[in-house]
Amino acid sequence: MPEIEFSLRDFCHPVAIARLGRAFTRHLHEPHEAWQAWRDARLCETVAAAGRCPFWRERFAAAGVAPSNLRTAADLRRLPLLRKEEVRAGGAALHADDAERHRARPSFTSGTTGHPVPFLVDRHARVLEFVYYRRHWGLAGFRLGQRFAQLNAQHFLRRGMGERVAHWQPHLRRLMLNSAALRRDNVHDYLAAMRAHRIRFLKGLASPLFWLAELATERQLPVPPLAALFSTGENLVPARRARIEHAFAARVLDSYGLLEQAASIFECPAGGQHVNSDYALHEFVPTEFRTPDGSPLHAIVGTTLHNRSMPLLRYDVGDLVELLPAGARCRCAIPLPLVKAVHGRTEDAVVTPDGRCVTALFVVPDEVPGVAGVQFLQDDPLHLRIRVVPTAEFDAAREREFIAFAQQLVGPALRITLERVAADGLKRGPTGKVPLVLSVVPRARAVAGGSEFAP
Ligand SMILES: [Zn+2]
Repeated sequence: MPEIEFSLRDFCHPVAIARLGRAFTRHLHEPHEAWQAWRDARLCETVAAAGRCPFWRERFAAAGVAPSNLRTAADLRRLPLLRKEEVRAGGAALHADDAERHRARPSFTSGTTGHPVPFLVDRHARVLEFVYYRRHWGLAGFRLGQRFAQLNAQHFLRRGMGERVAHWQPHLRRLMLNSAALRRDNVHDYLAAMRAHRIRFLKGLASPLFWLAELATERQLPVPPLAALFSTGENLVPARRARIEHAFAARVLDSYGLLEQAASIFECPAGGQHVNSDYALHEFVPTEFRTPDGSPLHAIVGTTLHNRSMPLLRYDVGDLVELLPAGARCRCAIPLPLVKAVHGRTEDAVVTPDGRCVTALFVVPDEVPGVAGVQFLQDDPLHLRIRVVPTAEFDAAREREFIAFAQQLVGPALRITLERVAADGLKRGPTGKVPLVLSVVPRARAVAGGSEFAP
């Protein structure tokens, strides 16, 4: 997931940061009933901002609602769900007439299907991101001004520093580490840079964090003494989490979010997955799909509460979540609502004939090494073709193991065959990226019917 890139000018809104910061701190201690009015006021501002977008004016008219009648979460049900395709097709019609006033800058979401969605990020959105991160990291002991490291590739690409390992930014007290250049023969330099800068917090996408941990373990290198790691942007499966935490002897706090800021879920130190109800308005809409162990999956539908230049109402973000019984409480005592787990992108899902939705196929090459690339193609509801780019160690035994492991994940109802291909034998999307899953089976989607708002 692309992230909001902070620069010094983002800290030029001290009043807005302090005000939102106070509210966000209060919400860690007070039940949502105590700040319901605060959130309804944010929602009314969002709806008013939507009234300044051509797309939404048309949609309100089509639904027969006036913006002044959309005041609470429940009122929003009068609008249809907003699909990603509509945002893509709508383009500038979703931008508010006064977007410039909010210092909006365009950003693009990537999406594994490779169709970027243009999106405006404004100063309210940047303030939100800053305040939210400070709150989440604060739960692990991080205080503003402390040093941290971040594994990232775009930072180096944009600056023409493609092969450089590390870049220290003293003004942000941030050590950037190049996730795209990380290899077996230079992992030592990454760990040494973190030790030299006395880094205690490390942030990154789940997979580069995992590779750093794996390489450090494999080479038996000394790791810096971290207080916590923060993973974002990808589905962090338990097996990967365990290996990262073992390698660094520190907790990973995961978080789920998207550039559009229409949904946000964070992990607390007690392991609870809390919904950021003050960041966005979340709605969990039933789908017809289940997890491999049979629990129902809900689509995450979100409404932005802070962005004023491109507000999104009832946006089907394309991710799935497994819920907990209503009223579930966390050991940490933070009253923000809980979910059981985020199940990742529907775009990376394989749907089996018995209705399971499997989103963790990307772990197969972790468990059975020896492939340089992999792609899962479901060109028939009953058949999954695995295309692998084999290395020399991928012998017949490994191949059987690979198929058996994938079969365990998808269950017995899907027939699996494996094809060995050259590196260019994997199908690319329009941006050149190789999607993990290509499927003709309809994706898990929100279906009409009762939805549940996270309080
Ligand atoms: Zn908790």
